[in-house]
This record gives sequence, C-alpha cells and structure tokens, in this order.
Amino acid sequence: MTKTCLIIVDGLRYDTAVAECGYLAASVEAGLARLWKMQACLPTISAPLYETIHTGLAPVDHGILSNEAIRPSQRPNVFSQLKVAGRNTGIVAHSYYHTLYGGSAFDPFEHTEINDPDQPVPFARYYSMEGYSPENSCMPSDVDLCAQTWRIADDHAPDYLLLHMSACDTLGHWFTADSSEYRIQAWKSDNALSRLIPRLREAGYDVLVTADHGMNADGHHAGNQPCLREVPFFAFSETITAEASSVLDQRAIAPTILSLIGTDAPDTMTVSPLI
Ligand SMILES: [Zn+2]
Repeated sequence: MTKTCLIIVDGLRYDTAVAECGYLAASVEAGLARLWKMQACLPTISAPLYETIHTGLAPVDHGILSNEAIRPSQRPNVFSQLKVAGRNTGIVAHSYYHTLYGGSAFDPFEHTEINDPDQPVPFARYYSMEGYSPENSCMPSDVDLCAQTWRIADDHAPDYLLLHMSACDTLGHWFTADSSEYRIQAWKSDNALSRLIPRLREAGYDVLVTADHGMNADGHHAGNQPCLREVPFFAFSETITAEASSVLDQRAIAPTILSLIGTDAPDTMTVSPLI
C-alpha cells in the first residue's frame, strides 16, 4: 500500500519529454525513476483522456468523446473507488476535473479551493483558465501548482494526489510542437517538478509522470499521428514493473494506481495493472 501522486503534463509528447526534460532524464539515469513509452487512446483530446486515465476505459467505452461533451464521470473511476474504500484523495488541476469527479457543476467562487472530507474529492485546488486566448493564456505557473500540490500532500497526506499542469498544451496550441516556446515550456514544467518530486518521495509517495496526449506541428491534437499518441510514462516507484522495451497502454494507469494504493480495481478496468 503506497500513497501515489499522478502528474499529468498536458500535451507533452514523448520525444519532447526525452529531449527537453533534464530533471526527469537525470532521475532515470540515476536509477531513481524509469521511463516507458505509453500509447494514448483515441481521440487524442484532453477531457476524453482525463477520463480514460481515471477509468481505464477508452473514450469510445466511457462515452466522453470531445471536450465540448464533458460531463460528470458515469463509470467507476479512481476517485469513486477510493471514496468507497474510505481512502482520501486530492487534486490540483484544471476545473474540467471538478466537472468529471467533483460532484457538481464547477463554480469558481465555490470550488477553487475545497477542504471538506465529505466531498467526492476532499482536498482540491482548481484553476479555470477562463478567458484563455492567444492574447492571454490565463495559465497558472507550474511551480505555483507544484507548491499547492505539496501543501495538500504535507497537510492532508491523501492516498491519491493528482497534479495536472496545462502550460505545455497551451503553448503547443499557440506556437505548435515545432517551436522553441513549446520545447522550452517542456523544460520549465520539468524544472518545476524537480522542486516537487523529491519532496513527495521523501514523504513516501510513489510518483508517476505522464501526459494525456502529444502535440503536432499544426499546434493541434485529436488524431492518430505518433506525435499525438506517444506520451512518456515516468515511474518513481519500486513496485511498477513492465518490460523496458514495451509500449504501455494508457488504460493501465487507473488499475495501476488502485493497485499501488491497495484497493481492488473494478471489473470495468480490464487492462492489467503494471504491478
Ligand atoms: Zn490535453
């Protein structure tokens, strides 16, 4: 039974992570973490894949197929399973996650900060990015999100803690994946994580770092190109096992998290955990 933190760097493609994320690469080189290539499900769109990562189901099976069709999760998921098991969870993420798992429509004046053991996700910090446009990206700083994540970990020690950072995706849309802005943002996210992950490890967390999808040279993602489907999966965990050369299935993340925490996976999660 291990407390687990999942970090989703939105829109970070595999080859960019390998090339730009020096802290994560150093961790692999030092034997503190391992890296696999993971294949994202289709369509390679954010909200459908947030739900895939937390239900272990492909979008065609869980039913959320576009960002515009986002609604509360209707499938057994990591948060609902842990709630039933009496375990504690926390989130620092885009407000889409409140829509999916928070139990009510997102209202920034009510839900930006949640500290309530009776809520579906008891400890949460959400950002809306309302007003998002090329002129004003409305992005929170990655290090601010890392600091909020640490505060929840240190104050409340949830069994499952999710951190979701949006800056790579945002700059990828404005400047494309073939840009210094996107590549340097990948490093900035990595640099912020270098200040969080050692603290989480010290506090007893296993830490997984991945992306929902990649990004292409049009500044877009949704389809079936390798640059959209291939994402990194870094594991700071002695428990995770898989062939070093294997390409992992994104649907394995949910049952893996539940296994790490010591909770049974529901029958709907049919892909084997990486344990
Ligand atoms: Zn995304």
